[in-house]
Amino acid sequence: MPVYRPILPIQREVLSEKYGVPDNEIPATRVAANKMLQEFEKQEVFEQAAVRVKSYHQQKSAPKPKPEWPLVPTKKPVAAPKPWVRNSPEKIKEYRAMKYRDYLLTPWWKKIKTAAIRRVDARCQVCNKRGMLHVHHRTYEDLGDEWDMDLTVLCEKCHDLYHASIPKPRK
Ligand SMILES: [Zn+2]
Ligand SMILES: [Zn+2]
Repeated sequence: MPVYRPILPIQREVLSEKYGVPDNEIPATRVAANKMLQEFEKQEVFEQAAVRVKSYHQQKSAPKPKPEWPLVPTKKPVAAPKPWVRNSPEKIKEYRAMKYRDYLLTPWWKKIKTAAIRRVDARCQVCNKRGMLHVHHRTYEDLGDEWDMDLTVLCEKCHDLYHASIPKPRK
């Protein structure tokens, strides 16, 4: 036969304060008081879990920060023009006869320049920064018919630093 020990007045006061329940709602026996305590704990665990679930969903639905510099879409690296798609000797001659700054405006150069930038994920090949990028000619030997390895993608700062120490091979 279970023993129903009564709750002493002092215990009643402690429980009342601990759980924020009026004195007269504290059960008369310890067994019943323990049961109530367990219910409270269950409730607390449930509430904590609810808070965690809520914050998880808030984090998930929070707007993602915008990437700082996706001026050139870089979802997938785009290959440079295929090596076997080269300019004709006549075309190369024509490009080489042009003023360099006019050459830089030709569709061929724009295509080769964009491909070079995409190939390196639109980052400077020295410092890895995004931003305004230059496509530097390592050599002008293949001008008008550049290959991948003729070009280096540099940010403005790295390009200036480079040319401050090494003179331009042409012009
Ligand atoms: Zn750089
Ligand atoms: Zn350069």
